[in-house]
Amino acid sequence: MGAKRRPRQYAAASMGGGSRTIVVGGGFAGLAAAVRLVAAGREVLVVEAAKHGGGRSRSFHDKVTGREIDNGQHLMMGCYWETLSFMRAIGVPDDALEVQSNLAMTMLKPGGARVELTCPPLPAPLHLAGGLIGMRGIGMLHRAAALRAGLLLRGEIARPDDNETCDAWLRRLGQTPPIRAAFWEPLIWAVLNDDPLVASAAMLIAVLERAFMGSRAASSLVVPRLPLSSVYVQRAVDYIEARGGEVRFASPARKLELDADGRVAGLTLKSGETVATEQIVTAVPPQVLLELLPEAAREHLVFRDVARLEASPIVNLWVTLDEPLLDRPFVGLIASPLHWLWDRDRIEAGTSGRPTAGDSLLSVTISGARGFVDDQPEALRELFLGEIARFFPRARPQIRGFRVVKEKRATISHAVGTYRRRPETQSPIPGLLLAGDWVRTGLPATIESAVQSGHDAAARVLSGR
Ligand SMILES: Cc1cc2nc3c(=O)[nH]c(=O)nc-3n(C[C@H](O)[C@H](O)[C@H](O)COP(=O)(O)OP(=O)(O)OC[C@H]3O[C@@H](n4cnc5c(N)ncnc54)[C@H](O)[C@@H]3O)c2cc1C
Repeated sequence: MGAKRRPRQYAAASMGGGSRTIVVGGGFAGLAAAVRLVAAGREVLVVEAAKHGGGRSRSFHDKVTGREIDNGQHLMMGCYWETLSFMRAIGVPDDALEVQSNLAMTMLKPGGARVELTCPPLPAPLHLAGGLIGMRGIGMLHRAAALRAGLLLRGEIARPDDNETCDAWLRRLGQTPPIRAAFWEPLIWAVLNDDPLVASAAMLIAVLERAFMGSRAASSLVVPRLPLSSVYVQRAVDYIEARGGEVRFASPARKLELDADGRVAGLTLKSGETVATEQIVTAVPPQVLLELLPEAAREHLVFRDVARLEASPIVNLWVTLDEPLLDRPFVGLIASPLHWLWDRDRIEAGTSGRPTAGDSLLSVTISGARGFVDDQPEALRELFLGEIARFFPRARPQIRGFRVVKEKRATISHAVGTYRRRPETQSPIPGLLLAGDWVRTGLPATIESAVQSGHDAAARVLSGR
């Protein structure tokens, strides 16, 4: 029998370094952390496994549509304060984002009738009250029911905790089936990427409060006009490199190295190189973080909770049609598995409208897509055609190109009871800070949560705590 091998111990100083912070992962969270750190004069190395940055918010050239497409249409809101400040810092021009002046959205019923929410230019939250009362295509009784949510936001109804589902909360608030279908459920699928029957109402409230209890602009929808990567990835990399930081693509991290006291001492890459450091910010999905940890560390309660986080998929269909289907940038479909349809040409053209005739690129979002993520493209194409016939009975679009992008681990699931398993920024390992949309930011796993987590981790590094 061989002697039990002692784990290799490292000391940052013995590896000839240590003052540099390593950020693992070049998605929104990692780039936001690195930007904050270099802005404060810190030495930073970002290692990213892929050949490109952007992670789950990225675009790529697609041969089927012949276009630069996103891995999925991304929507932001005026209350994405951390994200918008990150974008300003790296110099994203204003016209890269389409920002609504007031919250407005159109939902279609089967047959094509519209339900329209258009908030008037009143101070928040009166703008929402005005929008709900004036909602077109839905009866007064149902609109009045929606207003009851305002009582909760004003603290007059008990707040849900992380054990109450959105479904139970909507029932407690007396929401009628039509207002649920036309307003609440599309909102829940969009912000929580999960079924209202299982998703935590507390997470929904976190978003509602930010969106509707601050300024009117906080609830406006913000849509990237350009393919996602071109909006922020290269700009962030340029910003980091211009301030002396280094960004290495195609450099997957393999293992965190700890010293004899259990502190961070370095990071070993898949290439075999070990880079010394006393401070690592991981900005990778939960399962990747667990793989990076030394085996013994995974037994810590914090990481055992991380191992119990589940994923929720998103399926995105990119469809080239011979003519435009929509007369506006986007619509939601009521009680359909196809939650949102986006006219990419209209979005890219911005407020000036559609620039060209001819083929039209439509993006279709299926959130919380557990029931569809294993379907073959042919089945998804049938689903698409069936729903288009149901919601646009007069349209006869011909499909010229059909591309399916499946993200099996699009976000963590926000099922009830999940929030308490999300870890804090400061991990139990000294020198290891956790970032990523799934850490405990008070928000559901979104771009805003990712950027906030990166900023939180950077603040910890800078404060020396
Ligand atoms: C289809 C889709 C639609 C979405 N829609 C919206 C939306 O409308 N609004 C919204 O706010 N959010 C949306 N989201 C969620 C949003 O994309 C994420 O919250 C955000 O991108 C997470 O960023 P992150 O930096 O935390 O993680 P990631 O983007 O996952 O970044 C992690 C990075 O780490 C890298 N990495 C992995 N392993 C290693 C390793 N071993 N070494 C080094 N690097 C590694 C990865 O390659 C990746 O680049 C959507 C997500 C998807 C998938």
